[in-house]
Amino acid sequence: MKNQSNQKLSFADLSLPAPLLRALEDTNYTEATTIQSAAIPLLLDGQDIIGYSSTGTGKTAAFGIPAVACVDGALKRPQVLVLSPTRELALQITKELQKFAKYKEGIAVATLYGGASMTDQIRQLKRANIVVGTPGRVMDHMRRRTLKLDEIKMAVLDEADEMLSMGFIEDIQLILSETPEERQTVLFSATMSAPILKIAREFLKNPQTVDVITGQDNQADIKQTYYYVSQHDKQAALTLLLRYSDAQRAMVFCNTKSMVDELSGALRKQGFSAAGLHGDMNQAVRTQVMNRFRTGGTGILIATDVAARGIDVDDVDTVINFDLPQSFEYYVHRIGRTGRAGKQGLSQTLVCNGKQVAVLRSLMRFTGKEIVKQSLPTSADLMNHAVEKTAAELTDMVHQPSGAAAKMLVDQLLCAEGGDSTAYEIACTLAEKLLGGDKAFQSVSTKEEPVRRSTPGQDHKSPMVTVIASIGRNAHITPNHLVGTLAELLDIPGRSIGKIDIREDKSSIGMREDFAMALMHHNTPVRIKGTEVTFTVQKSTRRAPSPVHRRFSGNAKTGKRNQSA
Ligand code: ADP
Ligand code: MG
Repeated sequence: MKNQSNQKLSFADLSLPAPLLRALEDTNYTEATTIQSAAIPLLLDGQDIIGYSSTGTGKTAAFGIPAVACVDGALKRPQVLVLSPTRELALQITKELQKFAKYKEGIAVATLYGGASMTDQIRQLKRANIVVGTPGRVMDHMRRRTLKLDEIKMAVLDEADEMLSMGFIEDIQLILSETPEERQTVLFSATMSAPILKIAREFLKNPQTVDVITGQDNQADIKQTYYYVSQHDKQAALTLLLRYSDAQRAMVFCNTKSMVDELSGALRKQGFSAAGLHGDMNQAVRTQVMNRFRTGGTGILIATDVAARGIDVDDVDTVINFDLPQSFEYYVHRIGRTGRAGKQGLSQTLVCNGKQVAVLRSLMRFTGKEIVKQSLPTSADLMNHAVEKTAAELTDMVHQPSGAAAKMLVDQLLCAEGGDSTAYEIACTLAEKLLGGDKAFQSVSTKEEPVRRSTPGQDHKSPMVTVIASIGRNAHITPNHLVGTLAELLDIPGRSIGKIDIREDKSSIGMREDFAMALMHHNTPVRIKGTEVTFTVQKSTRRAPSPVHRRFSGNAKTGKRNQSA
């Protein structure tokens, strides 16, 4: 059965036990994500589910909240088992579960993964009622009888497709078959495939399918544009776009709280009705800001991604990405706020260097939609726009009776003693006051886009370099994983990647310098088997050692999305 709904609920609507609701109030989550809204009620109701959804959509809480809810804190035996492909993911899940369990008595989580002390894990298992682990280490503990699965009520396969592609299928089958028949089973995967369906048939009972793949279910009609400007012109460009637009409601996104404050202050100073929203503001203030935006009291809302998650305003005319988002999913979320209810939406993105233009290109590939380059409105455009708008307003008013003060002013100007002002001159003076003088229409120039780097593949004379990837044997990868990932990322044939040497916790890859440069310019996190990977250019084999030792940017090191809000 398929349950495809894109409705989002607030956590309060989900009939959660009080300690969980209270724990959620302590997080910055204001509203359940789509997958959470769909999955949590089904799981609380005891059903099995298969969830398809891409990364960053909040799957951990989708199973984590019902998991914590179903555990009996007084019973110190494993009641929930979560299998995860990697140690990093297992640790992340544990952290998230602990957040939800904050106010529920007696919840203890054990995290089991290879390469760490058994003794310590055995100690954790003595009191754990939730177990999160990689299949290999879970099997180890089962063999040693330090992990018993006969009280398991819920089993979760997180990133099941990853676990299968890592060859864990037999382990998973064995583990699940040791758990009670009447358990509830949850399977999450980013992709749908025959082996996934096979596992589902084997271990899930009448599962509900919850399908929310971001980036594909966005059918809204949104015109996506971008403007290339210098870094120091960004704020001026934002002002221009807002001034030039006829939007009743605009959302401006940036990546840090301090930028939210800076922009909202700057815009208010220029007379815009603008308000900022970020995670440092308390809930009461945030609610007030959102309500004012929803009811039209504020025209422009400046927000960070995380803070904006909770807002559900249908009628945003334009979304402006002042900063490029940290992930593609965020971009899709951001622009999804416009173009609702059958209206055409508009997204406008500011970029200020070649690297960001490259990110836009990858974004276009990701979403399959074009993002069109535009020039900022010129002074003449701005002037025409203001004149037309003001003229329309005044024409509407011309036949309305004027008040005594207005008449007095005009009479006085026309009949000023010794004055010889004509009606035309007086009208111009009043208009100047209204429009603000020509200085108000200064524009900012749109930058010329840099000449595109020669497309990898054209430059056959490019020297070879060695790139180090921060992933190795202990993540169970093969050269094929690296080749596949890089070929797809750089849009080159796999055979153009050179020698690969996989070591314990890193790998070296020979590749042409132009490919390596393209890789360094890639701006979004790269995951291989669920682990975020950083790339470093090590050395040039033909030239003198290159000074380039750039880290692949983004938040790759922590393997976490930026949580600056
Ligand atoms: P997935 O497993 O789908 O990749 P995660 O569960 O790791 O996604 O969540 C991605 C990010 O979103 C995490 O940083 C998480 O804390 C955050 N997040 C999850 N649910 C919500 C929510 N309802 N509101 C705000 N942030 C959320
Ligand atoms: Mg996840």
